[in-house]
Amino acid sequence: MEHVIFVPAIYHIDEISQLASLLSFIDSRIAVKDKKIVLYLYSNRKVEDKDINYLKTFPANQIVVSENELFSDWEWPYIEAITQHINTIKPHAVISTSSDFIKSILARVAARFSCGFAVDCTDLIFDEGTHNYSFLKPAYAGNINAKILVKNSSIVFATLKIKNVAECSFEAVDKKVEIVESLFEGLKPFSGKIKIIEKNLAQNIDNKLESAKIVIGVGRGIKDKENLKYAFELANLLNGAVGVTRPLVDMGWIDKEYQIGQSGKVVSPQIYFAFGVSGAAHHICGIGSPKLIIAVNKNKDAQIFKIAHYGIVADATSVMKSFIKAFKSRLKGC
Ligand SMILES: Cc1cc2nc3c(=O)[nH]c(=O)nc-3n(C[C@H](O)[C@H](O)[C@H](O)COP(=O)(O)OP(=O)(O)OC[C@H]3O[C@@H](n4cnc5c(N)ncnc54)[C@H](O)[C@@H]3O)c2cc1C
Repeated sequence: MEHVIFVPAIYHIDEISQLASLLSFIDSRIAVKDKKIVLYLYSNRKVEDKDINYLKTFPANQIVVSENELFSDWEWPYIEAITQHINTIKPHAVISTSSDFIKSILARVAARFSCGFAVDCTDLIFDEGTHNYSFLKPAYAGNINAKILVKNSSIVFATLKIKNVAECSFEAVDKKVEIVESLFEGLKPFSGKIKIIEKNLAQNIDNKLESAKIVIGVGRGIKDKENLKYAFELANLLNGAVGVTRPLVDMGWIDKEYQIGQSGKVVSPQIYFAFGVSGAAHHICGIGSPKLIIAVNKNKDAQIFKIAHYGIVADATSVMKSFIKAFKSRLKGC
């Protein structure tokens, strides 16, 4: 009997490179005869050819791109679609990335099947004998790895926080990607009890935090929301991404998509700058293991200096501005 792992993904939310990482991770962790990995990519627009070509190289046995204009910013059409696909595919496990959007979708789908749901896991252990799944998940600010054993669940539901694609390699094989325009009947415009009155998209976020090799980390020490623009300028210059501590999100300075840490994203840069970041465990557990940490903090005893390779005791914003000037002149003509 085939052991089916269903990976639902959303085109405008999941980075394609993250999906490659996720699939190769699942492929490497689940060693069982007759394993079948099925990827469904849901999209409300035409998936670009370059992405289709990349998908074809993924370690999956079946890849279906489901294009339907009803797949929008609202969870409901995805819940219906994924429920129907689970009923058809009959998977043993449903595993996705850990974006907030897909978590809120899969939580409802798991409830429909009366199954538990393990979220934000960082590792997967599969028992070849019993076919039991267990997951590791950081707890107590990353100080321990909690083991979650899934028992007596007809389908295992989980989301994984996977690091950069570079760490998960796979042998690319050119294969067919099935593109289905309108996959099933019954997906009608939203008709539930909730009415969408208006949509206000906060901002168009194109930060690529999870795959960035250089992250400009910013904390409360930058003092003013206005100073965030220097972090973005520096990130732009270095082809990196901006990541922040939770207080900046709580104060409404920036969207949660930028938050790094226990209740934010887990990143894996090679270089991490920390401007006005205290170095609290809740934040540091999300920065991975960078080869280089450069910290700027006014307090010489700040926690961050304990893990930094280079430390500068100074005002965070002034140093950011100096770095911008220096990099601009060094990178001129590059
Ligand atoms: C359950 C839970 C989950 C959490 N999840 C997260 C999470 O996901 N991510 C996260 O980041 N936090 C998280 N937190 C919060 C976390 O514990 C810390 O409070 C937070 O990371 C601190 O952010 P900060 O370093 O920006 O602020 P602060 O702790 O206020 O530190 C500011 C730093 O800036 C320095 N500074 C001040 N002025 C200047 C200046 N002019 N120039 C340079 N440096 C200056 C200070 O010396 C200080 O070190 C969580 C907390 C809990 C309880």
